[in-house]
Amino acid sequence: MTEMNPFAIAQEQLDEAAEKLGLDAATHELLRWPMREYHVSLPVKMDNGTTKIFKGYRVQYNAARGPTKGGLRWHPEETIDTVRALAAWMTWKTAVVDIPLGGGKGGVTCNPKELSEGEKERLARAYIRAIGPQLGVHRDVPAPDVYTTPQIMAWMMDEYETIVGESHPGMITGKPIAIGGSQGRGDATARGGVYCVREAAKVLNLDLSNASYAIQGFGNAGQFAATLHREILGGGKLLAVSDSRGGVMNAAGLDPEAMVRHKLETGAVKGFPGSEPITNEALLELECDVLYPAALEGMLTEKNSGDVKAKIVCELANGPTTPAADKVLHDKKVYVIPDFLANAGGVTVSYFEQVQNTYNYYWTLEEVYEKLDQRMTTAFHACHEMAMKSKVHNRLAAYMVSVARVAEACKLRGWV
Ligand code: GLU
Repeated sequence: MTEMNPFAIAQEQLDEAAEKLGLDAATHELLRWPMREYHVSLPVKMDNGTTKIFKGYRVQYNAARGPTKGGLRWHPEETIDTVRALAAWMTWKTAVVDIPLGGGKGGVTCNPKELSEGEKERLARAYIRAIGPQLGVHRDVPAPDVYTTPQIMAWMMDEYETIVGESHPGMITGKPIAIGGSQGRGDATARGGVYCVREAAKVLNLDLSNASYAIQGFGNAGQFAATLHREILGGGKLLAVSDSRGGVMNAAGLDPEAMVRHKLETGAVKGFPGSEPITNEALLELECDVLYPAALEGMLTEKNSGDVKAKIVCELANGPTTPAADKVLHDKKVYVIPDFLANAGGVTVSYFEQVQNTYNYYWTLEEVYEKLDQRMTTAFHACHEMAMKSKVHNRLAAYMVSVARVAEACKLRGWV
């Protein structure tokens, strides 16, 4: 088991929580593995007339608390082990915000940057033809994740409804608003993370109104964090941002709105007027108050975590920190808001979307924000109190809260 295999990491994190909680051996073993997983081959007609076969996965990790829930990633490096890890983390994520759902995740190994719109649509529809029978509002509900979008959710819902011949908007979330999406879903992941930073500042007694912050990864979560950080915390200086092609910084501060526009127009953050280049590695070690890892797994490791200078690390990405790095950061008194708490805003508003789809009655943006704030604030303090009471690092505390909830559901069902 290498430290960088994300599923081995997910299991190692669980093992630590199971030991702390004194979990019985059967429950522990049950929670170490996915309940069920699907591997599919997806033939897609390409624009040049050839047919390409893509590999797809869906892992339904644990459904003790409700139907499995979690996003779909389209990434060149997607493997069954990344999907398993992400499905496990979804299980702890839905539990930490206490919504009545289990955890799942899906993925397709592909490079969406090389696919045309038509090819993406055919891939989305092929995925639903292969996996659709295992999905549904009472079974398993996908959503967007890395390189998947509301448009892709729309094609998937359409394919599903075409197959079953009925309306089923709740079978997938993160849809465009015009076809059953929720207000506030677009920025929910970042918003939930910034609410956690606001609460962390309270317990740490920090004034963040002039804080400096840096963002690694400038996709959906990173872009919204850039602007929401200032909006929710009442100010702040964005020092640096990066994406898969490199980073930019400005010691006097980058304009978050202009930065997002530049990324949307050029497809990258590099070349932003008035900025200097910075590498992804250097960004993680910048002198700043709040660091948002918002890219992929395995970014903060045993090697670089000793050089992190941020006071708060808010993990908008899934799995950015390895277990060895967790210990280093804890010893350095860096306050880590662990991924499945920090980025739970996305799935929380996905749950709201499903509720609205079921009622066929839709809420205002203000209602969504208020309900999201309540859920995130309650979850944050449950984890913080556990960390204080049990004298453990924040990720372990969040695991203890979540694993205890999932274990209770497994017991009540008579599984263990
Ligand atoms: N992909 C997001 C996550 O990792 C959202 C999942 C969902 O909304 O189901 O939390």
